[in-house]
Amino acid sequence: MAAREFDPFRLDVEAFAKEGASLAGRWPLAQLDRLGESALAEPDSGVDAASGREVAWQVRGELRALRGGDSQIWLHLSAHAELPLECQRCLKPVISVVNAARSFLFVRGEDAAAQLDADSEDDVLALTRALDLRELIEDELLLALPLVPRHDVCQSPLPMSAADDGAAAEAPPHPFAELASLKRGPRLN
Ligand SMILES: [Zn+2]
Repeated sequence: MAAREFDPFRLDVEAFAKEGASLAGRWPLAQLDRLGESALAEPDSGVDAASGREVAWQVRGELRALRGGDSQIWLHLSAHAELPLECQRCLKPVISVVNAARSFLFVRGEDAAAQLDADSEDDVLALTRALDLRELIEDELLLALPLVPRHDVCQSPLPMSAADDGAAAEAPPHPFAELASLKRGPRLN
């Protein structure tokens, strides 16, 4: 039996779980608007912080047999992103590693889902044949954002040394540093 293709934007959750199928991928951060908005724009670069960054994710379906012949439909999700956030101590960008991992129980009907969700420790959602995994994954990453992002050790406000990101990400030279080099002058050497 050929494995069936599942669409992460319109996932048939029950079929996915019955097959014990899994999906994984990477999405550009720019496609996750709400998450991209919480990322800090790189200062002075004129570049959107979301550009070039990605969210890596994977999802696995599970049909869990219960006593009496019934079964539960589960989705196990994990996602990972590295986001430039604003350090709450020095207000400069800090790359925060954000990991989300959660399991969802799916039941038939919104009412049943709301009831169960309130009563149990599990996250319960209404079963759907067209689940948008991107919405769900973005929600989880937003929940996993650090409340107070900050550097372990903040940099001093001196000009930064060249990073691997290259010259584009580098801060402009300190005006006084330029002045000093003018005063010194190459011909005096
Ligand atoms: Zn800092």
